[in-house]
Amino acid sequence: MPLPSDQLKRRVMLGILALAWISSGTAWGLIEARGDASTVLRAVFALNMVFHPATFFVLWRRLLPMRVIDMACLLFAASLCALCMALRLYAPVLGAKIDIQPLYLWIPVIYVFAFTLTGHRASLRLSLAIMALFVAISGPYLLQWPVAPHANFTFQLHMVSAILVAALYFFSSYQHRLQAAQLTVDELARLANTDALTGLANRRRVTEVIDAELVRARRYGHAFSVILIDIDHFKRINDRHGHGVGDAVLVALAARAQEVLRDVDMLGRWGGEEFIVVLPETDAAQTLGKARALCAHIAGRPLAGAHRISISCGVAGVQPGDGADTLLQRADRALYAAKNSGRNRAEGGDVPADRPLLQPATAA
Ligand code: GH3
Ligand code: MG
Ligand code: MG
Repeated sequence: MPLPSDQLKRRVMLGILALAWISSGTAWGLIEARGDASTVLRAVFALNMVFHPATFFVLWRRLLPMRVIDMACLLFAASLCALCMALRLYAPVLGAKIDIQPLYLWIPVIYVFAFTLTGHRASLRLSLAIMALFVAISGPYLLQWPVAPHANFTFQLHMVSAILVAALYFFSSYQHRLQAAQLTVDELARLANTDALTGLANRRRVTEVIDAELVRARRYGHAFSVILIDIDHFKRINDRHGHGVGDAVLVALAARAQEVLRDVDMLGRWGGEEFIVVLPETDAAQTLGKARALCAHIAGRPLAGAHRISISCGVAGVQPGDGADTLLQRADRALYAAKNSGRNRAEGGDVPADRPLLQPATAA
């Protein structure tokens, strides 16, 4: 069964405790007015009158963790029902003048309560332990069948309890399986959208975001821009220090770049040692400024130990009639312009769309 949030549970329990206290007090008063309260019944009511406000206070002042209070309430209810059952079945032996059978009719509620407290297996164990207690209490009495007047009723109560616990276990384990399946689906969706090395959004996810931004741009005229990032002379890092160090630099670069970006900007891995940023509500001129800041921030301090690297950036802002391909093509042109102008710089924003693609500079 789903575990309700502690806050909600606390409020519900405060309400139930207040209600239980008022109804116990009213019932006690009515029974006293009728004049047929026994000493045992008075003791049970007195116990209720103390337990409910005490638990209410502990819960209200948050003196104990919620799960401790839950368990205390469960054990109190189970003990009270066990006591009532023992007194009811063996009353002639004890000589108590009581009629408290209705109190232990609440036993099924205890099992429902137990299944809200913890996982389905632990709840089953808890419920079976409580059921064993009731069976043990009534065992000697049931052995007197058929002369014992309440044997039939008590036996039926155990049967109903067993069926209820089985049903609760069935539903709660079914729900557990559903939740596990949902988690698997969520995890698969996360994996499908995430780059395994850097943990950033992958190309697939970034493309989805660009498509969504294009729809917003067309429908509502919202501006947005992209920055294509390519690490300068990255082959050298791999060649000199190995692929593992190259990977560490990629991870460190992702973290460093995030420091310059806003929460709304999405940094993704476009592929290899190329990254991309999608900047909502930002025009090309603002984005060019951001890309220059990004270049300076990356080149400013060594990455992943002692590797000083720089990046080149190509910037493009969305223009009327753009699709993802034309927008990214402009960013690509701008990136190669940055490479050709000496690297460690950002270009774009105003590069004409019809300018031919520049060839990448050869690694120095
Ligand atoms: P340039 O300044 O012209 O960009 O020079 P460059 O050396 O960075 O050249 P280019 O961008 O063409 O090189 C990309 C290199 O990045 C080639 C490849 O070995 C390396 N690379 C691509 N993906 C990974 C990766 O996941 N891990 C590592 N360690 N290296 C990668
Ligand atoms: Mg590259
Ligand atoms: Mg490169």
